Amino acid sequence: MQDFQLVIDGAQVDGENGRFAVLDPASGKPFAECPAGSLGQLDAAVAAARKAFAGWRNSSAQERRTALHKAADDLQREAAELARLIVQEQGKPLALAMSEVMGGVAWTRYNADLEIPVELVEDTPVQRVELQRKPLGVVASITPWNWPFMIAIWHIIPALRAGNCVVSKPSSLTPLSTLRLVQILDRHLPPGVINIVTGEKGFGGAITSHPGIDKIVFTGSTPTGQSVMRGAASNLKRLTLELGGNDAAIVLPGSDVAGMADALFDAAFLNMGQTCAALKRLYVHESQYEEMLVALVARAGREVVGAGLEDGVSFGPVQNLEQLELVAELVEDARRLGARVLCGGQRLARDGYFYPPTIVADVTDGDRLVDEEQFGPVLPVIVYGDVEDVLARANASSMGLGGSVWGPDAAQAQALATRLESGVAWVNCHAQIQPNTPFGGSKMSGFGVEFGLEGLLEFTGQQLLFVRKGAQA
Ligand code: NAD
Repeated sequence: MQDFQLVIDGAQVDGENGRFAVLDPASGKPFAECPAGSLGQLDAAVAAARKAFAGWRNSSAQERRTALHKAADDLQREAAELARLIVQEQGKPLALAMSEVMGGVAWTRYNADLEIPVELVEDTPVQRVELQRKPLGVVASITPWNWPFMIAIWHIIPALRAGNCVVSKPSSLTPLSTLRLVQILDRHLPPGVINIVTGEKGFGGAITSHPGIDKIVFTGSTPTGQSVMRGAASNLKRLTLELGGNDAAIVLPGSDVAGMADALFDAAFLNMGQTCAALKRLYVHESQYEEMLVALVARAGREVVGAGLEDGVSFGPVQNLEQLELVAELVEDARRLGARVLCGGQRLARDGYFYPPTIVADVTDGDRLVDEEQFGPVLPVIVYGDVEDVLARANASSMGLGGSVWGPDAAQAQALATRLESGVAWVNCHAQIQPNTPFGGSKMSGFGVEFGLEGLLEFTGQQLLFVRKGAQA
């Protein structure tokens, strides 16, 4: 078995609470052990980060840039091993895990090269006023189990680039690739600049209320995000909350259904549907509804379901049993209400958490499968007749992460997309993200953005520098 340790103050250490098993979702059986840290070790990690901040805050842009590029070089060199580890703990097929690692490398390099601007507000013979950006201090990163490696990078790298020190706390379902990531980063950074604690009991609350932490960047479910926000009030921690979504896509009449069905399917089933900004409700005009269903079912039939490390597999298991049971429950609920389950719809009778891609027709708003975030391999397809009505239905959700409009007339689609109540609106695509395009939710999907300069600046505080010129008064 591989050996995993925490990183605290530049040292690799065992967890004081022993170890816990990490399951392989393709077998449902343990394949590795993860150190279980204590709350005392969390305190030690925060103290180490605080101490390191005194130096790291004053490091030059060039020092930070060099360290992050060196780490990116290592990640790239060790990509194959990291990708295998992601498959083992998360379940996704190897090629997708490889793209997760290489995406992480790209995000690291992009952030390393960003400049943090000083904004000149006013410069006159009398005074010069500029807005400067400072690091915040100690940032805690709390990450989920769906894209464990990439989301950790999204949190940690801009925090470090902006001059903060970090304590990472990954999901206990997928902690191992983040442990490796932090070990690699730690090679190139002064001790204490990056730390990681793994473990579960009590960690969430201890982090959110910790007086030594200045900011939390959290990606996960909306209820946990609310708990983070409550806990963070104690010392007014800054927050970035990337929470759940229930993204709608609207396909306008006259669309090239055959041409867009594959892209719609891919947007819905990316990472077996376990993606925050996956397409989760598909609204199709009544004139093309049956045609769309046929095209989606045909596309689903091309997936090869199996363990992520097996050759030829394109569709892996659900990451954990609880999520699989939620997906199955939502499909059963729809079935009971008279929905047509056109493909999939049944857990596979084999070890592991396999649920094939599932297309469900004749569901509507108010059904659990439409209203709740399924976060798994099932797509409800909903018929509509009137464009204004469907826009209102898309916006009726309390969530507001992403949304999309698809159609032959890009101007019409764009006009409608800008009326979606979502942090991101896509036209003729969905779930497209890039290192340079700020991404974040609205409504109950959270606040703050990641990526781009705006995302980097979330890890800074402002200081207005007001300089009076001329003779001393
Ligand atoms: P989760 O909220 O259960 O857990 C997320 C993290 O929070 C884990 O590390 C967990 O250990 C930790 N945690 C648990 N209780 C805590 C507490 N009281 N205080 C602080 N931290 C605590 O989410 P999950 O099931 O791991 O992830 C799935 C959810 O994440 C979905 O809703 C999905 O939409 C969302 N998500 C959002 C984005 C985004 O960018 N908006 C990206 C990925 C996932």
